[in-house]
Amino acid sequence: MAETPRRVALVTGGARGIGAATARRLAAEGRAVAVLDLNESDAQRTADAITADGGEAVAIGADVSDAEQVDRAVAAVAERLGPPVILVNNAGVIRDNLIFKMSEDDWDTVMNVHLRGAFLMTRAAQAHMTEAGFGRIVNLSSSSAQGNRGQVNYSAAKAGMQGFTKTLAIELGKFGVTANAVAPGFIETDMTAATAARVGVDFDDFKKAAAGNIPVRRTGRPEDIANTIAFLTGEEAGFVSGQVIYVAGGPLD
Ligand code: NAP
Repeated sequence: MAETPRRVALVTGGARGIGAATARRLAAEGRAVAVLDLNESDAQRTADAITADGGEAVAIGADVSDAEQVDRAVAAVAERLGPPVILVNNAGVIRDNLIFKMSEDDWDTVMNVHLRGAFLMTRAAQAHMTEAGFGRIVNLSSSSAQGNRGQVNYSAAKAGMQGFTKTLAIELGKFGVTANAVAPGFIETDMTAATAARVGVDFDDFKKAAAGNIPVRRTGRPEDIANTIAFLTGEEAGFVSGQVIYVAGGPLD
């Protein structure tokens, strides 16, 4: 098995949940990790956990949907750690509602964070990847891409992430850059806890009910996603590109 070189990874939405687990996992693999989140002090908690474990990390505060902040953040990562050649577009929000009650703001916010955010981050980071002749991009999609009641905005954005990923794979492949999407099913994070709270169900009961419909009979953990991302960003995954991998405890397509 090839040794993992240092290489710089940038994980958006890295303060908690799937992003924090991914940042920690990539750091454990020997990557230098930039943990980006809206609030720098939140991101710093993940960076501190990585350095406490002997890894290398910096925290960056930026809104992924703001072009100026994104360009500044990517430049800061390049200066502080080196060129980011691994990018995990993980930052996300939900603004669930049935379509007849959904506001334009709920629609725009979800589109801006997921799609515009992934676009801006990737546009800024790909310059470093093409220059290095190596890159790994992983975009967070979702099982909701297949449709989910109360999530017209989110399911449209997550389906959009899949088309975005496939086109990146086509455009950037010749530069040694791969792009893949990971589409989680139910993962135990603040995001799913917020959904439980919104529908007025205790989170443990909510998880138990979800697990009953999942073939492996459990809900997912952030580490389940981090493990898959570690594979896709690995040195030996260079021939896997343009794929959507559902990590959902059962088959989805
Ligand atoms: P989470 O616990 O809510 O964490 C999301 C992180 O993204 C938060 O730290 C949040 O910061 C940050 N963020 C939000 N808007 C941002 C912005 N504009 N710029 C920078 N950072 C921003 O979510 P999660 O459950 O770990 O989900 C991570 C990703 O996986 C998301 O893309 C989500 O859609 C996807 N996903 C999750 C599940 C699941 O079951 N949990 C399933 C499928 C897909 P604040 O805390 O400051 O808002």
